[in-house]
Amino acid sequence: MYANVLVQYEVKSLDHTFTYLVPEELQDIIQVGMKVSIPFGHKNINGFVISLTDEKPNSEYEIKTINSIINKDIKLNKELMDLGIFLQNKTLCTLMTAYQTMLPRALKVDNKKESYDKYQIYVELDQDIDTIDRYILGHQRSKKQIEILNILRDGRALKGEVNSSSLKTLIKLGLVKETRESIYRINRIVEQTKEYKLTEEQEMAYKQVDLNKNNTYLLHGVTGSGKTEVYMHLAKDVIDQGKCVIMLVPEISLTTQIVNRFYQRFGNDVAIYHSNLSDGEKYDEYKKILNGDAHIVVGARSAIFAPVDNLGLVIIDEEHSDTYKQANNPRYQALDIAKERTKYHNCPLVLGSATPSLESMARAQKGVYTYLPLTKRVGNAKIPEVQIVDMAPEYKKRNMILSDTLKLEIMNCLENNEQVMLFLNRRGYSTLISCTSCGYTYKCPHCDITLTYHKSTNKLKCHYCDYSIYLKDNICPECHEKAIRDYGLGTEKIESEIKELFPSYKVVRMDADTTSKKGAHEEIINGIENHEYDIIIGTQMISKGLDFPNVTLVGVINADTSLNMPDFRSGEHTFSLLNQVSGRAGRSSKLGKVIIQTFNPDNKTLFYVQNNDYMGNYNYEMNLRRILKYPPYCFMIAVRVTGKDYDKTSKEILRVANYLKNNKEDSTIILGPTTCTLFKVKDIFRFQIIIKYRFDEKIIETLKELDKMFIDKKDLNIEIDIDPLDI
Ligand code: ADP
Ligand code: ZN
Repeated sequence: MYANVLVQYEVKSLDHTFTYLVPEELQDIIQVGMKVSIPFGHKNINGFVISLTDEKPNSEYEIKTINSIINKDIKLNKELMDLGIFLQNKTLCTLMTAYQTMLPRALKVDNKKESYDKYQIYVELDQDIDTIDRYILGHQRSKKQIEILNILRDGRALKGEVNSSSLKTLIKLGLVKETRESIYRINRIVEQTKEYKLTEEQEMAYKQVDLNKNNTYLLHGVTGSGKTEVYMHLAKDVIDQGKCVIMLVPEISLTTQIVNRFYQRFGNDVAIYHSNLSDGEKYDEYKKILNGDAHIVVGARSAIFAPVDNLGLVIIDEEHSDTYKQANNPRYQALDIAKERTKYHNCPLVLGSATPSLESMARAQKGVYTYLPLTKRVGNAKIPEVQIVDMAPEYKKRNMILSDTLKLEIMNCLENNEQVMLFLNRRGYSTLISCTSCGYTYKCPHCDITLTYHKSTNKLKCHYCDYSIYLKDNICPECHEKAIRDYGLGTEKIESEIKELFPSYKVVRMDADTTSKKGAHEEIINGIENHEYDIIIGTQMISKGLDFPNVTLVGVINADTSLNMPDFRSGEHTFSLLNQVSGRAGRSSKLGKVIIQTFNPDNKTLFYVQNNDYMGNYNYEMNLRRILKYPPYCFMIAVRVTGKDYDKTSKEILRVANYLKNNKEDSTIILGPTTCTLFKVKDIFRFQIIIKYRFDEKIIETLKELDKMFIDKKDLNIEIDIDPLDI
């Protein structure tokens, strides 16, 4: 028997299988999808079995023999093996990269560690009761031993809970034995809550989802309309059919509350999947799914690869979120994978959002997706009133951070014993530190970006490569004047200003800096829920999904950072961001208020945000996209060439552009080459070409060819990004 094995290296030149002989003793056990150890060159490495055959290959090389199978209990099933090929074709990554992406670190092919299993050790009687009784009669003075034997008479006990020296004696005598049982590290015991009776609108949406058909639904529900409750009702039906649910959420900050709601409803039938878990925890959750001990998987992007073999439903919550596209290789969209998997299992896919992406809404309008609207907030909660504040006159009054309006509203809110959320899309103290005399700014020597000042550490940091320097004094390194000042705003700066303005209230900051420690997120969120804080300051981390009934005021310190992004999606993103942020206000019976500060009070996007007019913004943006030929009116691919040497890299991108121009359909548009928005990152120069097309049958093949040409190129890399998020 022979096995075709894909080796562990994720390089294009080894993106094919090698044939190995399967030794006699493994022939009955070996299966496609298993991890094996193999001799390769002069080393032993690992690989995946891609196929098995009895036919002897006609190869001029000597055929080597597989050493062993690693972890016989865990293998990729047929669906996931095929999904790997799908992922490879969709993103042009190597097949090994595709498989590696699907597995938690503990199970990745090149991981040497044998086992991550965690065991609980028990002790139990190893003789019949008569023998035990006889022993007790003959050893009346061994009180401790008798105590143990009497405990074990009623059943096993945890080893740690009985006296150890006496136990040792009993084990030696053969009266008692140890047993091991593998356990899961995560075991949430929470109070169970009953399900709500659905509102009329929720019921309508819920009823339309056909669990026995492959169809995609767009659940478009305003913030607070109870989308999660609809998900949970659907999930329950799927579990009742004996099937499994995968639910994706954008990021960890969101999982806390939503995961808790799922635990409260479904107990330990839930497995979680996100980057903040330890390797052991991830391994356990993976195994829990494989063993059928969890029917609901809740997690971030990669949870879409969860090894469920009887999938009944996939939910993508906050479907517009850009976290569903992986930013590095393989650049996959969770949505594409979800569609493939639901097709395979003939089950529905539900996309939920208060602000669906233009692409999804366009598909819903065309009837490709079934549209399920939820237009009202649950209960008495009303959509909050949104007020736009022009910051130009405020600046004249020296109100650099808070307008008078916002200050007043904060006071009001605090006096009513309610909570305030202040939102800013920038962490750090201030965005820009520069010299007021000569205009000098601190830039990262390795990246094409200015450094951000972090007051707590008194450091200037690069947010791309972690380069940092101390800010010594306010003397300019260029002109030596005492004129270094800070401009722009960061969460840290707002925090210190707020603490000064409202000294008797408790303030908490939630951003990447304050939540980097494990568990820090949950702690802050619990603190907010328990009203340990009055004012919450945060980045986009606080914008989505969180549900705090006592937050009645939301302030957006500066809407312009998002509006001014040089990206064709900035209007769409700003609407969705501000709408989500606004959605944090007034989620219970208390009326909410939102204040948005800007220097562009007449901006169209802000107008639609103010009127909570998703469709208005949708039509406006779609019109722009049509005129400017942007997605969803065309497909887009970014091709980037990166390298350490400026000249070599810039010449290469020109060659690539020519190659593409000579190998495309007439209607396909090639834009560039240009430098990337981030021109230099970690000393690597970056150039790009944008391809826009509507119908081009050859384009993917052309790109595959192009990709191959880079296999032997030293110091030059090509990145092919299909449906890029930012350009
Ligand atoms: P969304 O995800 O659409 O923003 P949520 O699912 O968080 O909204 O629901 C908002 C609030 O309404 C939550 O506190 C939730 O528990 C509550 N809720 C949802 N559906 C119902 C219902 N049918 N009856 C009572 N309360 C509900
Ligand atoms: Zn840098």
